[in-house]
Order: sequence, then C-alpha cells, then structure tokens
Amino acid sequence: MLGSSIRLGRIAGIEIGINYSLLLIALLVTYQLASLVLPTRAPDQSSQVYLIASLVGAVLFFGSILWHELAHALMARFYGIPVRRIVLFFLGGVAEIEREPRRAHQEFWIAIVGPLSSLVLGGIFMGVSYIWDNHPVIVEVFYWLGIINVILAVFNMTPGFPLDGGRVLRALLWWISGKYLWATRWASYTGQGFAGLMILSGFGSLFFQNALFGSGLWTILLGMFLMNAAKTHLQSAHVRDGLSGISVGHLVRPRTNVQPHWPLGYALDMMSLGGGASAATVVDNGEIVGILTIENLRLMSHAMWGNVTVETAMTPIGRIQTVDAASDLYEILQSLDLKRQPYLLVTSDEQPLGVISHRDLVGYAERQLRTT
Ligand SMILES: [Zn+2]
Repeated sequence: MLGSSIRLGRIAGIEIGINYSLLLIALLVTYQLASLVLPTRAPDQSSQVYLIASLVGAVLFFGSILWHELAHALMARFYGIPVRRIVLFFLGGVAEIEREPRRAHQEFWIAIVGPLSSLVLGGIFMGVSYIWDNHPVIVEVFYWLGIINVILAVFNMTPGFPLDGGRVLRALLWWISGKYLWATRWASYTGQGFAGLMILSGFGSLFFQNALFGSGLWTILLGMFLMNAAKTHLQSAHVRDGLSGISVGHLVRPRTNVQPHWPLGYALDMMSLGGGASAATVVDNGEIVGILTIENLRLMSHAMWGNVTVETAMTPIGRIQTVDAASDLYEILQSLDLKRQPYLLVTSDEQPLGVISHRDLVGYAERQLRTT
C-alpha cells in the first residue's frame, strides 16, 4: 500500500513521501471545503475565492498531518532511534522508525508528542483565525484547520493500535508495571474492545441509519483494521518477549574455513565434516575474503562441483554485513533487510566468530517461542 509513493524531499534529514491515494483525498478535501464548508460559513463570495482558499486549506491540511508525524519522528530520533521516512497516505501519515523503543518512557513520549503537537497547531490556527480577520474566507479556512487538528489529536488518542492512544496506554502500563508483555496484552485487549465497539456501531448505523460515528461502512472497515492491528501487536510482543536477552553470538557455531583454490566438491565435504554448516568462511593467507554458502553451490550444476573453485562461487566479504556478537537477536531480526542479507558475519571485538544465516536466526526464534 505504501509502495507507490512520490518523494517530496527531506525535512531535518528525514525523507518525506506522499502516497498516490492521497491525491484522491486532496481532491475530496478541496471539494468539500469549496462547495460545502466555505459557502455555508462565509457566504456571498466568488467561486474562484472559494477554490483558491480551499486549495490552500487542503495543502495546510496535509501540512498538519506532516507536522504530527514529524513530531513522532523527531522524538524518536531524540532517543537515538533512526527514522527511515515519513509517508502520508489516505488514512493519515506514518513515521517509519527503525525499531521499537527499548524503554517505556521513550515509547510514551514518542507516541504522545504527535497528538500534543496537533493540539498546539490547532490552537495556532484558531488563534490566526481570530487575529487575522480581514477576510471572512481566510478566517473560516483557518478556523476549519484549527478544528481539523483538534479532531486529529482526539482521534489519534483513541486507545487502539496502531493509533497513538494505544501506544500511550501500553507505554503507561509498561512504565508502571515494568512488564512489557503484560502491558501489551492489556493495551491490545482494550484496543480490540474498542475496535469491536466501532464495528458494532458501524453495523448499528447501517441498520438504523444513525450516524453516530459517521458513515457505517467506513466505521466497520476502520474497526476491522484496528482489531487486526491490535492482535498483530500482541503477537509481535510475544516474539519480543520470547527473544529478549538472547544475543546473536549465542547462536554462532564454530566456523568452518575453506580455501579459495579448493574445488567446490571438496569444500562441501569439509563443510559437512565441520558439522553441516550452511555457510563457511573462505580464508586466504589468514584473512577472510568471502563466504561460501549452500545457495552459492545451488547456483552451479552438480557436474561442475569438481572443476569450479571456491573463489569463483563465493560471495565476496565486501557484500556481507557484519554484526557484533553482543547484538540483541530481536533487534537484528527487526532491523535487517533480510532478503538482501541472507547471511551475516558475526564478530566479537572485530574478530570474526562465524557466519550465521537468516534462516538459522528465524528458525531459532521460532523454536524459542514454541517452548516459552
Ligand atoms: Zn500519531
């Protein structure tokens, strides 16, 4: 869904993108402002004035969402969590941060700063609408923006994942109890309860034509989305809890070394003798020059294993990512682009310990979770 987006540029070093779905919403917002809101609240103006004011309003509307997401992003960066980018799309925006916060108070501040900044911005827009009252249309556009930002703050504080309110609730429970999983469980149940109410009220308004939460179908869809997200968050909390405190170094087996001039068949024999490792380090004059993996071998036909040397088939060391043995397994699994990095070289004090595959990491994680 977030794949097809246009890059707008960078703010404070953070890449900003907008999703194509947003253009549709921009049209809707402009249309609603130009044909309904402004003509009702500031009548007797020309349609050009309404249109221009509405376009400005729509741009500032997306500026408001960007402001909200930037607040999250900058707070995350304040705590040393890298931010990949901010994407605006039809449901609002999302600041993609590299990993989940490690501490409860960090999650609390990263989550709550969004709604707080929306409230502040809402106040600023309202203030502008009072002070800058030389034209009724300008007053109404800023007043509308003020209301929108307050609605944004309130909507985001509702207690459902991945909304800010759900995160704030989880962070508070986590902060008080010190128990991450317990806190997530109760925040997830609250989110699921809330989503259930939304779905029910959506059906209610479909049957009784009672627009308690606006359009019934929208409410049902949003409720289902939040229900699903609340469950997913609980699952990933189980994963995090099950894997916490396990370091990558814990999983590395003693390394099997092969030499660059060896034929593949011989190298494979050595790897099986070394305990059936799926990857070996290629060592030339005491230095690691690459790794040889089962995947490298699969690319060659069996018949060639006697003639092709390790050097031809291996992955050069420059293309292998290095991780420290002390790194947290959970964080490595979260942060790596594992499709591009199926193997990692694990080091300790800059000394290579061995090679570990993505499959080993995931397999271990799954076994670990089954037993907890
Ligand atoms: Zn937010």
